[in-house]
Amino acid sequence: MNDNRLRTHLEPTVLFVDMNSFFASCEQQDNYWLRGRPIAVCVYTGARGCVIAPSIEAKLRGVKTGMRLDEAMSICPELVPVETSPDRYRAYHVKLISVFKRFSDDVLPKSIDEAVIDLTRYQLAYKSMPEVAQRIKHAIRTDVGDYLRCSIGIAPNAFLAKLASTLQKPDGLVTISPANIDEVLGKLALTDLPGIGHAMATRLQAGTINSPLELRYASPDRLKLVCKSIIGWHWHLRLNFGGEVDLAAHAYKQMQAIRSVSTGQRQSLEQMTTILRTLCLTLERRMVHQKVFCRRLQGWVRYSNGKRYEDGLTFSIPMQDGIELFDLLCSRMQRYQEAHQCGPLLNADVRQIGMGVSDFMPAESVQYTLFEDNTRKDKFRETLNAIKERFGKNSLIRATELRGESVKDLIGFGSIKDLHEW
Ligand SMILES: [Mg+2]
Repeated sequence: MNDNRLRTHLEPTVLFVDMNSFFASCEQQDNYWLRGRPIAVCVYTGARGCVIAPSIEAKLRGVKTGMRLDEAMSICPELVPVETSPDRYRAYHVKLISVFKRFSDDVLPKSIDEAVIDLTRYQLAYKSMPEVAQRIKHAIRTDVGDYLRCSIGIAPNAFLAKLASTLQKPDGLVTISPANIDEVLGKLALTDLPGIGHAMATRLQAGTINSPLELRYASPDRLKLVCKSIIGWHWHLRLNFGGEVDLAAHAYKQMQAIRSVSTGQRQSLEQMTTILRTLCLTLERRMVHQKVFCRRLQGWVRYSNGKRYEDGLTFSIPMQDGIELFDLLCSRMQRYQEAHQCGPLLNADVRQIGMGVSDFMPAESVQYTLFEDNTRKDKFRETLNAIKERFGKNSLIRATELRGESVKDLIGFGSIKDLHEW
């Protein structure tokens, strides 16, 4: 179920649901006073806090994701800053998914505010897909929250359904089918396609593919040549209803980094923490080199008595940043220690620390659904690693690598799949 299909499928039976201004809408759903007002959900609400989710009203006044709060307030003085409440968003996410599952067993959460509802196996059960979409919108309002809105895209595959969901906001409902795809693509630029950033667009343009329509009608062989990889073939399939390449998410390989801990090192929590951080940064370097992001992280600690601590988690926002992986592992270890009152996991009995990342996704097709500003950060990391590869590992280090401060809010990177029964 939810497996990629490699056969032509022309019927628009795949729905992509994207909640509009999700974090802000959850806040407005729970706090009546916030409704109709421009609000900005921020990790910190100080002047230098960062806006991670403006409400629909705030977006209309020019407030954007990634802005600093003081900058946003100068554009929109009536803006109400609200601190993030990850548990609230997770709870709404779980409720939404359970509503979607009333319509199909084939529901695949893509991120905290997005899901694919595959109705391909339900063509006999539902006469009209737009009508099902309307029923889903209605169910969200009546059974989850009357202030929650979503845009739903309908298409023969998940990619085109996602594209359709971006075309009308808020509260959109757009179908892309063989009948209208050329008309739809004709109005778009390459970078309007989810997964095509500036680097990819530049590469395509260098191969004289200048628009989504030219991408659709380029031969698969030419696309493979221009993209220098299988990704070109995937673009052909997506835009020509040639199959489904965006649904499956299985691990096809793993990268591991393991370190033995010496007698001297195991006496010092700081040194073991440094080892863990180094492992994370090693994996980051390898992922940057391989041009992939991971969606699964595993960490383990082996002790002198043969026992092991193990942790594994899957996240729907692909990750590559070593410090973010490190923070994620540390906060999970902390939570484990607190929940089980077991004393520090990194203690004098540690013999080995290991980490693995898997479930890779090509960097080029990583979609930035929550933090649009990530593109710049990823570019920065790529450059940094290129320098390190040329001049040696210690030629440059980021400030965070020195401080090891923890990220306060991990919602964007938190595991969504953990929240569901599969
Ligand atoms: Mg959204």
